[in-house]
Amino acid sequence: MKLINESVWKFDSVKYGAYMALFLSCIHLVLQEVYNANVLPEPYQTIVSLGLMFLAVLIGRKKAQPNLQQPLGFATITAGHSNTDPGAVNGKVKEADLVVNFRNAVTHYLREAGLQVKTDGTGTKNDPLSAAVKLIQGSSVAVEFHMNAAASKQANGVETIALPKDKKLAQDLSKAVADALGSRLRGDNGWIDQSKSARGRLAYVNAGGLIVELGFISNEDELARFNARYWLAAKAAAKILIDYENCN
Ligand SMILES: [Zn+2]
Repeated sequence: MKLINESVWKFDSVKYGAYMALFLSCIHLVLQEVYNANVLPEPYQTIVSLGLMFLAVLIGRKKAQPNLQQPLGFATITAGHSNTDPGAVNGKVKEADLVVNFRNAVTHYLREAGLQVKTDGTGTKNDPLSAAVKLIQGSSVAVEFHMNAAASKQANGVETIALPKDKKLAQDLSKAVADALGSRLRGDNGWIDQSKSARGRLAYVNAGGLIVELGFISNEDELARFNARYWLAAKAAAKILIDYENCN
């Protein structure tokens, strides 16, 4: 038998059952000892007592106790950079714009699945990192999207930077995105250990979040595939997060 890690007295079913048992015991004692009488002959007295107790438990169980509801977990989904910091740029294409679209698409699929989601903005709004980091606290999972950039136009692939505890989720997210975009995985099957990241210690990852680099904005082919298929990649990433939330 597995025990629940909370006091049972907060449940009205337990309380009402106990009160009814106490109440009936008192009635019974008073009638017996003071009046030396039974209201009902046995076995009807026992049957009625048990029936009343069951009714008390039933009412306690059925009655809503709003303050007992556990606060629902939420996912934090944010876009890298901000409305004033474009991030990496390729001609007129800005990293911040691409990842805002991706954030919105992932958020759409998560909410469609009934998940609570906090974002660093809606529509084209993209709050800075400091605001995004603040959203992480209390969330069951936090993911931020970026695009990589390199001097070499050939550099390509998808990677997720995370703490070692989130290695599996990081690999799953990278694979989902890479498969949808037709890209390859970087790092350890898509996972980059925060401590081994060339970017050093990232505030977002330190706060418990994961950073998904969706591809290289500097690679024309990868950029074209991203633009053509990012909705599919967002849907695949959302599915990973939905499964993760439902298993935790
Ligand atoms: Zn970035």
